[in-house]
Amino acid sequence: MPSAAPGPVGVLGGTFNPVHLGHLRSAVEVLERLQLASLRLMPCAVPPHREAPECSAQDRAAMVDLALRDEPRLQCDRRELERSGPSYTVDSLAEIRGELGPQRSLCLILGFDALLHLDSWHRWQDLLGLAHIVVIARPGWELPQQGVIADWLKQHRSTDRASLRSAPNGCVLVEELRPLDISSTEIRALLAAGRSVRYLLPEPVLSYIEHHQLYQRVGAQSEPAEQ
Ligand code: ATP
Repeated sequence: MPSAAPGPVGVLGGTFNPVHLGHLRSAVEVLERLQLASLRLMPCAVPPHREAPECSAQDRAAMVDLALRDEPRLQCDRRELERSGPSYTVDSLAEIRGELGPQRSLCLILGFDALLHLDSWHRWQDLLGLAHIVVIARPGWELPQQGVIADWLKQHRSTDRASLRSAPNGCVLVEELRPLDISSTEIRALLAAGRSVRYLLPEPVLSYIEHHQLYQRVGAQSEPAEQ
């Protein structure tokens, strides 16, 4: 009997400044719901559409590593830290596609907030040629009803999860997961104000922040949605 094809590989890109339970719970839920073989959290080195975070890429990746310590299905993918220049998702997906080969299903996971700005991403029209895109709901954000992204969604959206397995790339799926209203922006603001962020992120990440005295700058400000 032929063995079943391996499950899709998922990639969740972000700044992870810092990683929090909104990222982690969404990652586990999407992994199980879509029966992904694994999911990689991929911290960017230099975000293309926002100011460089004051916390180094090494610190952000180290916190992702700590957060994933006990969950082998989730991994930290450091490729963007090893490349110079802006961290374009399309370049990372092209590299991963090259490693996986043309047949393996690959899924880029995005929150609703990231989807709204997708058309500002470098070569965004090429993304579906490399991967499927799975959009996950995020409290406070709605799918666009009109405009370029709404039209693009209409054109590519599938409601059938099986489409992630029947082709290696090319579909957009929208998933409602457990809503967790947690953001890195809020965590940075709380820390800058000297308030507790306990239970918003894993304890080892909190210990790392305290040990390295991260995010203590007074007047941390909110930033625009990420690429
Ligand atoms: P910031 O507040 O600094 O913008 P963030 O909390 O949005 O950060 P990112 O690292 O920018 O975190 O997010 C990476 C990816 O995870 C994005 O696609 C984002 O939409 C998604 N994401 C972040 N937080 C959540 C959450 N609470 N629920 C669902 N998706 C999330």
